[in-house]
Amino acid sequence: MKRNLRFFFALFFAKGTALVLKLIGRKGTSMPGSWAIILCPDFLGRMPRPKTVIGITGTNGKTTVANMVEDVLSRCGYDFVCNRSGTNVNTGVASSLIANSTFFGKPKKDLAVFELDERSSPKILPYLKPDLLLCTNIFRDSYKRNAHMEFILDILEQYIPDSSRLILNADDLLCAGLKPGNQRVFFGIDRQPGDKERCENIVRDITVCPRCGTALSWEFIRYHHIGRAFCPSCGYASPKASYRVTALNEQEGKMAVTLPEGEESFPLLNSSTINVYNALSAIALLSEFGLSAGEISSAMSKLSISETRYSEEEAGGKKVILHLAKGQNPIACSRAFENIRDYPGKKAVILFLDDYFDAAHSVENISWYYDTDFEFLNDPNITQIVAAGARHWDVCLRLLLAGIDREKISHTREKETSPSLLSFSEPDSIFILYDVYTIDLANQVKQATKALLEKRENENEN
Ligand SMILES: [Zn+2]
Repeated sequence: MKRNLRFFFALFFAKGTALVLKLIGRKGTSMPGSWAIILCPDFLGRMPRPKTVIGITGTNGKTTVANMVEDVLSRCGYDFVCNRSGTNVNTGVASSLIANSTFFGKPKKDLAVFELDERSSPKILPYLKPDLLLCTNIFRDSYKRNAHMEFILDILEQYIPDSSRLILNADDLLCAGLKPGNQRVFFGIDRQPGDKERCENIVRDITVCPRCGTALSWEFIRYHHIGRAFCPSCGYASPKASYRVTALNEQEGKMAVTLPEGEESFPLLNSSTINVYNALSAIALLSEFGLSAGEISSAMSKLSISETRYSEEEAGGKKVILHLAKGQNPIACSRAFENIRDYPGKKAVILFLDDYFDAAHSVENISWYYDTDFEFLNDPNITQIVAAGARHWDVCLRLLLAGIDREKISHTREKETSPSLLSFSEPDSIFILYDVYTIDLANQVKQATKALLEKRENENEN
């Protein structure tokens, strides 16, 4: 698309807005991009793109993976533009491009790494045309935002450019089936000791062969529809992965990966399966970009999973753990619940599951509670569950339907005071599950929990 007068007016106006925002000390806002797109709706199509664009999309894990990819690239000496401090929708991408452009809009850097919201892809992908596009996975997500995974798959199928080289999850048949005509490689994790023959989850988004409709047979199921499947009628099967985790060694904190260039050991930043997939997808993307396995591994050994997603602290001889769960996302919550069940020792849990933006005007949709495996919290080692927030009665009902003892459940509308409902004698760890937009509140509750634990320890000593 040609750059016209309207484009330049939008660009200069956006640059002016960015300058004003900078002068008043506001960072990381997508306002300049919003203005650019209001004034020139096809702004992204007219804005010159950096020479190489890497896109990272998918339902879960894209922020963690994008951060990891950016950290490795920085450590390997690459200079690039990214939307890390902004948003992953079209206005955030536009803001990043504007901030990194010359007066007339020419890109200052040759490389761009963008986390891309899958729902916004019609407004981004046809313009940005990523050279490399990673899709981490496709799951059902918030019904309100994303409708259903088939709707999202249709959007991606329609708007991913034919020229994009794809990096796809071989263990996710929904993701693996995207754009079969494009150049693509797959990543996957070999069968591991915890993998199952049957699905333990309420939700499994693919059950029949997409080609002929016969019920799929499974070599193994890891969770939900993640695993390796084949069709007994027509031979359709999970694709072969070029990037495979072959073994995990938790004690040594390492994972063995087979890549097209050979075997390599990588640091195991976090042993939860989702984070193994995140790290593996980042490795596949960086390797396809051109880094050697050795370079990636040595840069990764200096990283950790972002503390805003998971953090452990100690207070009064017990652990206080913040764990992101994502409101309205049944898969992210089910994974978090399973992690808690499998965490060693006795545990208490505080749940803030309301979506922050939804909760501001009351929470409309609770159907997702019934897609979420609250049953994982029905475990003898989980000694107490506190449900806090606008929908605490509904969460309480769902916990009861999961078979959890009434005596273990407390609930309150007041999130800030929820730690006071905890009984601290039994658990070794206290988990605080929160939505992505409630990190400040989660930190506040963490501090309150730690203060109560420390007070209790002091009283016991006296
Ligand atoms: Zn079939």
